[in-house]
Amino acid sequence: MFTINELTSIFPSYRGTADAQILIRGAMTDTRVENKQSLFVPIVGENHDAHKFINEAIKKGAVAALWQKDHELPREIPTEFPVFFVEDTLQALQETSSFYLKKVNPTVIGITGSNGKTTTKDLVASILQVKFRTHKTAGNYNNHIGLPLTILSMPSNTEVAVLEMGMSQAGEISLLSKLAEPSHVIITNIGESHIEYLGSREGIAKAKLEILNGWHDGTFIFDGDEELLNSYLGTDRSVSCGFLSQSSVVIKVHELLEDRSHFEVLAHNYTLPIAGRHNVKNAAYAISLAQTLGLTPGEIQSGFDNLELSGMRFEKVDGINGSLLINDAYNASPTSMKATIGIIEELQSRSHKILVLGDMFELGEFAGELHEDVATVISDQISSVYTIGEHANRIVESVKVKHPNIESIHFKDKESLSDHLKKKLTANTVVLIKASRGMKLEQLLNDLTEK
Ligand code: ATP
Ligand code: MG
Repeated sequence: MFTINELTSIFPSYRGTADAQILIRGAMTDTRVENKQSLFVPIVGENHDAHKFINEAIKKGAVAALWQKDHELPREIPTEFPVFFVEDTLQALQETSSFYLKKVNPTVIGITGSNGKTTTKDLVASILQVKFRTHKTAGNYNNHIGLPLTILSMPSNTEVAVLEMGMSQAGEISLLSKLAEPSHVIITNIGESHIEYLGSREGIAKAKLEILNGWHDGTFIFDGDEELLNSYLGTDRSVSCGFLSQSSVVIKVHELLEDRSHFEVLAHNYTLPIAGRHNVKNAAYAISLAQTLGLTPGEIQSGFDNLELSGMRFEKVDGINGSLLINDAYNASPTSMKATIGIIEELQSRSHKILVLGDMFELGEFAGELHEDVATVISDQISSVYTIGEHANRIVESVKVKHPNIESIHFKDKESLSDHLKKKLTANTVVLIKASRGMKLEQLLNDLTEK
């Protein structure tokens, strides 16, 4: 992948007597996982300073390390072990990844947005790998540390790199975009996540648009239905995808089913093996991109057919008494919670529908209002709404007023919730489980699945 020798050209302050031609494969920031032939990058975090794990890193396969100058290198580290002294290990990690990316020189695709980044990344990669050697962000490695690690784990013959770019504050996407310099960029949507830090939806849109800061030569694909992006409709090198007629790529939905969707984009019919109108839009982004890279509709469909999604996103789990549990507990924001409730409401196969909703985090002063707002998409089709957490009771309070027929209860803890829920499960029941990551609502599944 790259050699000690190449690294000395970026970080000249170096010690070690090992062979300068030693190959380094990828970087290790977490010494709990074995990573053979890697570069150890000790990050100074809020709670931990990883410099203290250098011995562990060597045991787990590190063949060289970056080292922050203001730290003392332990005496017991063998003199031949290569160490590069840098001002800031995090910044050096980013510089290393940017060096490696230029060396491999794949076509880079950058994906951001409030919701749907991971799903769109998986869709894009699944299609592009039909034709190109494709590398994609693993899971959710999408921030200032995850993105460099993703880049450094890329095989050196990669032709296309599909990179998810996440953020919680202004300026972060700009940094990631300048680091990866994507040819093509996608903004999946503008939601409400991280409004606590960004002040307003306008602020969120501005932060996502920072992805254009490192963009060059290719296509800008975005949500054509989003008012805040209207000024980009019809601009040079842009493709807007949406359900409204103003978009350059208008999506025609034919049928939305519990396990697949049929739709038409750019005069071709496709079947997507996942539920949800919002995923049809994510698929349209992927189709638009694939077309600009020369893939045929047949190749695109075969990419959909082989789709593998990252976990806990609308994951179907068999519950007790033949019930169906939908584990979407990976994360939640107002937009994604409303979108997912929409799928449950449209679902034809089960008529007894239960929503189990927990807190959505990082909404700051808007938390109460935005939780209450979730109730606006809940209709009489839903039988029960159960909530848990500090703010989610606002959903229940609002449902009680609007739909007195819906059984709506706020629970103090997971035990009482699961005790109550267990009694409600039949072969006709579908349960949606959704909340922010920190709520760990997937723990409910232990009690609700057949042992
Ligand atoms: P994170 O910020 O946690 O990385 P993400 O942007 O990667 O999230 P996904 O993990 O792909 O998003 O999807 C999370 C949830 O967002 C899904 O379960 C779904 O409910 C919702 N979602 C996905 N795509 C869209 C979309 N285009 N518009 C609105 N909601 C969406
Ligand atoms: Mg993600």
